[in-house]
Amino acid sequence: MEGAADNFDYDRLLAFVKTLPGAKDIHDLPVWSVTPERVALSYHLIVNPENSLERSTEIIKQLKEYVLKEFKISHTTIEIETDQCGSFTIFKAFQAIRRAIKTEMMGSITYQ
Ligand SMILES: [Zn+2]
Repeated sequence: MEGAADNFDYDRLLAFVKTLPGAKDIHDLPVWSVTPERVALSYHLIVNPENSLERSTEIIKQLKEYVLKEFKISHTTIEIETDQCGSFTIFKAFQAIRRAIKTEMMGSITYQ
């Protein structure tokens, strides 16, 4: 199946997240195609625990708008957190492996 799910640019979305005051990180990021035309995205968003509800809601709105504009994905589900959940470690491991494959340095996987 082709579509945005195959070439979703995680690093680009993360870079945008880092520009939003009160947003800290994202993880657990499945992207899947329901059909080639309809792609859905789901992830966890870590926000500053001192954010107001209004600020966190605004961050989610901005992220959804960005993903729609940049990746043409109109169905986004964001789970909001103020701390790392249990799936974070697995996600980081996945990212490290993906980076290693990207750079063809399978001998030197590092965790951040
Ligand atoms: Zn999480």
